[in-house]
Amino acid sequence: MDNCDTTACQSAREIFKELEEIYDEHNLYFQTIGSVLEAANALEVPQRLKLMLTQPKNEIMVHCPVEMDDGTWQLLKAYRVQHNNVLGPYKGGIRYHPEVKLDEVKTLALLMTMKCALARLPFGGAKGALRIDPREFSKDELMRVTRRMTSALGDNIGPDYDIPAPDVGTNAQVMAWMADTYINFAESSSKVTARGVVTGKPLEFGGSAGREKATGQGLVYVLDALLPGMDIELDKVSCSLIGYGNVGSWTARLLQKRGTTLKAVMDHTGAILNTNGIDAEALATHVQATGGVKDFADAQAVDEAAFYSTPVDLFIPAALEQMVDLEHAKRIQCRVLVEGANAPTTPLAERYLLDKGVEVLPAILCNAGGVTVSYFEWKQNRQSETWDEEVVDKLLKTTMTRSAERVLEMSERLGCNMRIASYASAIEHIDNVYELRGVFP
Ligand code: NAD
Repeated sequence: MDNCDTTACQSAREIFKELEEIYDEHNLYFQTIGSVLEAANALEVPQRLKLMLTQPKNEIMVHCPVEMDDGTWQLLKAYRVQHNNVLGPYKGGIRYHPEVKLDEVKTLALLMTMKCALARLPFGGAKGALRIDPREFSKDELMRVTRRMTSALGDNIGPDYDIPAPDVGTNAQVMAWMADTYINFAESSSKVTARGVVTGKPLEFGGSAGREKATGQGLVYVLDALLPGMDIELDKVSCSLIGYGNVGSWTARLLQKRGTTLKAVMDHTGAILNTNGIDAEALATHVQATGGVKDFADAQAVDEAAFYSTPVDLFIPAALEQMVDLEHAKRIQCRVLVEGANAPTTPLAERYLLDKGVEVLPAILCNAGGVTVSYFEWKQNRQSETWDEEVVDKLLKTTMTRSAERVLEMSERLGCNMRIASYASAIEHIDNVYELRGVFP
């Protein structure tokens, strides 16, 4: 992929030269920082801010020996990247995936800094990952490895310092094990608030109402705020989805309640299509029972090319990074691409889609519902309170709507696309806070 005729790429090259790092245009981190720097240049922020955003503050790597059920041992690699904490404690998910790489974690940590800043949450950005395939681990093995990783991270996480949450391959149960492990090591005076070390916990153990569906719910609120301006009504449109995990399945179910027709879904097990509509609830039950969308009775199996080519109004990638590349973009026939996943669209694919007149709604806006309700959970934990789902949803809607308005305003002010506008709004806020705080010492 060649992305190097852009101003984004030129700025990134210059900054990396100053940092004595070699710019690699094929690398996801370099591509992402390129867009962030394009937004920073449009705002004409100080050079020091560009340098600080280009490198994460801390890149932590730990190796965890863990005994398997059959008595053999594995040495597992885990990362925690803490990108920036000028706005507050580091915040970001923990991913369990067999192919995860440091640069991917760095990218996701950078995006968390941008996401929290755009939503004006009092958090910085971080991300973590463990290189395992959780599907190949028993429940006991998963618990052991989670506890071992949590203790290895030690004081690098904490409710006032760095607060992980679920991501791809992790869930509320994993968060419960992390919190329990951390609480066991906490001082007795801080054991009550220590469970705020992670968010996305089960409801019975300090979790928040509305957290499980929060990312999908937030995405729907963003569509509520932006689609009317594009003359699109949710109850008259169709959509397709990549990924039917937490983000994908909740988005599909909530959109179905609003009258949207789900036409096609692809996940790691295959792709399915029904132009008359797929029942999102029935598909969620099927995925829960079988582990994927394959063999769902009320749809036909299709290949990847047919999935991408299905005409829809909303195309929603909600799986892994870079699943929409230029080749896919040439097939996609949609009016709006809504990023449920982090960094799902390559720069070349985005440029192609924008040139074709497709609106691309960026991830740091669309999927901020998860971290927003995580913030509400963290607040509830600090105050030993339990909020009703209606309260959480109302506050979430306000946050998502304001963020969407900020992106629209910035896009008009700078005359730029939604991705650059979303980064610019985030960077402007971070710049203001650095101006007020100063850079230590
Ligand atoms: P998940 O583990 O619940 O689901 C991941 C989905 O991706 C599954 O349906 C899986 O089948 C699919 N998938 C994996 N490999 C695939 C492949 N090669 N082809 C097609 N599909 C594939 O994860 P999630 O929590 O729903 O996260 C999905 C995305 O949303 C990630 O980018 C994550 O970082 C982002 N995100 C998640 C949250 C959250 O609250 N969970 C919040 C913000 C952003």
